[in-house]
Amino acid sequence: MQCSTKIWKGRLLLGLIGENELVINKHRERINHGLEVLPTLKFGVPGGLGNKRWTSELILATYEQATTGKPPVAFEYKVGKSGGGFDRLDFKKTGNGPPDDEESFDLSIQLNRRPSGPKIDIPIPVYGAGMSFGSVSLNFMLARAIAAKRLNTFTCTGEGGYPPQLLDYKDHVITQVATGMFGVREDTIQAARIVEFKYAQGAKPGLGGHLLADKVTSEVASMRESVPFTGLYSPFPFHSVYSVEDHRKHVDWMRIVNPRCLVSVKVSTPVDVDMVAIGSYYANANIIHIDGGYGGTGAAPEIAKKNIAMPIEYAIPKVHQYLMAEGVRDEVTLMASGGIRTAYDVTKAIALGADGCVIGTAECVAVGCTHCGNCERGRGCQVGITTTDPELTQLIDPEWGAQRIMNLYNSWCQQWKTILKNLGLRSIRELRGRTDLLVYG
Ligand code: SF4
Repeated sequence: MQCSTKIWKGRLLLGLIGENELVINKHRERINHGLEVLPTLKFGVPGGLGNKRWTSELILATYEQATTGKPPVAFEYKVGKSGGGFDRLDFKKTGNGPPDDEESFDLSIQLNRRPSGPKIDIPIPVYGAGMSFGSVSLNFMLARAIAAKRLNTFTCTGEGGYPPQLLDYKDHVITQVATGMFGVREDTIQAARIVEFKYAQGAKPGLGGHLLADKVTSEVASMRESVPFTGLYSPFPFHSVYSVEDHRKHVDWMRIVNPRCLVSVKVSTPVDVDMVAIGSYYANANIIHIDGGYGGTGAAPEIAKKNIAMPIEYAIPKVHQYLMAEGVRDEVTLMASGGIRTAYDVTKAIALGADGCVIGTAECVAVGCTHCGNCERGRGCQVGITTTDPELTQLIDPEWGAQRIMNLYNSWCQQWKTILKNLGLRSIRELRGRTDLLVYG
């Protein structure tokens, strides 16, 4: 009798597992197929999709690019409808481009402009932003890492430790060290070619980070050396850094642990962001990464987003010009993030003075983000991006996600080449700081 009960329970369990897989596969198929169908407008524009910055058209245009790898035909894919910033900037029409030879346009940028340390160039002027294990799912992290490796650029761990599954892509994964020191270990610093110090995030400067207990599963807690289902705070700021000298000590600390790594310093955009940038230069950073107020996932508090940090469009020229005036501009790489949605935003940011951009939200949209804003909840993300739930996580197949992210960047590459051609330039590096090529309309 006992034996038959056991068998019956075993069958039930197997049945449930099989059923779960079926449900997951069904939803995954629907999402995958839906992302291909939605841009056709066969069922119209989904109600409530998007906002003034990320309009429904921009979201659908991003879905389409992630499916086809080409710029859309029917959608506005260059700007949103915020009424300011990148949405009001455009390039002058010069119309005297070089010959239409795809190979003749150079989109690469240097990540180390100092005389010492390894030279790392990436073939496109973007890399992936830090999104931690815990804030996003492992499958989404893997999709980003696979895409980064194939594109020969980078993605970033964010502050949540380094899941061992990422080690296969370690040459293309930036290790982030932030104030909570979650998952910071010597081996993960030694594995990285670039280490990023996150001092602040543009979406919530001065507030630190907060991962709600709901998302702190056993795996997340173990990676962060913490306790499951307990809320985790990353304080603001680093309580060991109150001067450029302290900052320098931090950078030196990284170089002692990993002498071959480049160091990136991520800061938000306060009104004195130019002073912060020059301090980071003297602290010996290779990359200064400024993060404006329009980035972040839906987990950033609404009251902070867009209301504290300076818009990135103001911050970039402020930092670029200050570094020029100090005579050190060509010794650091300036990366911009926090509101870079499209290929056109990237080139406008470069024309304002950045070397390149760091992309977060657009990669989320490529795999189906709808901007619903439920990111902070454990089971809030219906497409498997900002979740740690073991079932929702599986809604993203890493290979499928990687292909969509690569397709998006392939489309962006075509647009960057078209922009360079129209401006009569051959290299994205020639565009840096060329505000004379921009018009405000
Ligand atoms: S779809 Fe997911 S990632 Fe996008 S806003 Fe909603 S919860 Fe966040």
